Amino acid sequence: MMRGTVLVRPGTIELREVPRPRPDADGVVVRVRAALTCGTDLKAFLRGHPKFPMPTLFGHEFAGELAEVGREVRGLHAGDPIMAAPTAPCGTCYFCARAQENLCEQVMDTMVLGAYAEYVKLPGSVVRTNLYAKPQALPYAEAALLEPLACVLHGLDRIPIRPDDTVVLVGAGAIALLHLLVLRARGVERVVVVARNAARAAQATELGAAEVLGMSAEQARASVLELTQGRGADVVIECTGQVAVWELAPSLARRGGQVVLFGGCPTDSVVRFDTNRLHYDEVSVSSPFHLTPRAVRASYELLSSGAFSGAALIAAEYPLEQLGEALDRQRRGDGAKFAIVPGAR
Ligand SMILES: [Zn+2]
Ligand SMILES: [Zn+2]
Repeated sequence: MMRGTVLVRPGTIELREVPRPRPDADGVVVRVRAALTCGTDLKAFLRGHPKFPMPTLFGHEFAGELAEVGREVRGLHAGDPIMAAPTAPCGTCYFCARAQENLCEQVMDTMVLGAYAEYVKLPGSVVRTNLYAKPQALPYAEAALLEPLACVLHGLDRIPIRPDDTVVLVGAGAIALLHLLVLRARGVERVVVVARNAARAAQATELGAAEVLGMSAEQARASVLELTQGRGADVVIECTGQVAVWELAPSLARRGGQVVLFGGCPTDSVVRFDTNRLHYDEVSVSSPFHLTPRAVRASYELLSSGAFSGAALIAAEYPLEQLGEALDRQRRGDGAKFAIVPGAR
């Protein structure tokens, strides 16, 4: 048996004694050393999620050491420190054949859920495609950023960004701050963050934002125009998942600029755009989803490079017993992410 956190129904989690998972022949079981809270988990906790049929174990950002290895697995051994993304594509469907593995027909069905537990089981597909040896020097909690960072890299992969671009990030949660860190690491000098929450605004400044606009996205338009000689930003990245912000984002971009709508909105949301901005002003809009194996590799390489640290995004560590408190702080915007460390006191 082991201890694992069960999402019983929206608003209710319970730490229970549950059977310790055994590996499939081609899979592994990981002893979780750190699992990170994430906006998706928070949404599932607060209002349910179509991909989280309850009751269910949950938590999908993790790193740990291999506890047990399936008999067909070669080259991996119990005790190895690892990091992995929670999904893997099938490799054979229409989308996989076109290198759009993020849209793979099976990618979300096989998602690993259950990282807020002492042990978590990974299927063979994840082991073969999206599992990496964790470098000794990389702390487990930072290694657990593999998945969210891969999602950010996947989105950035799809748009051209120059170091002299002005990039506006709307929002200052974990995803916005990860964008900020990556853009700074890529030499983009002028990243402007729109964040109403004062603590998050302060953190964005600390992490290298050139300007922080402590106001709503609507109010920020005048400031963004002022900062860009009236043109608008070269790139606008929406990281809130709010319909009103999606609709507003193109108005912050310059003619020929790029808009990335990163935050997923509630199911059945409908947005409206001014066609003149998209057509005559040629503002491009993309809305990247999830990650590809290529992005996971890039994320692994960045985290392992020693030149990049996501430590500042992890506000505090909690033991399994206090996941509820961590989610509550995240809901209040009191920290971008929290590390859940089984066995920590
Ligand atoms: Zn996540
Ligand atoms: Zn596929």
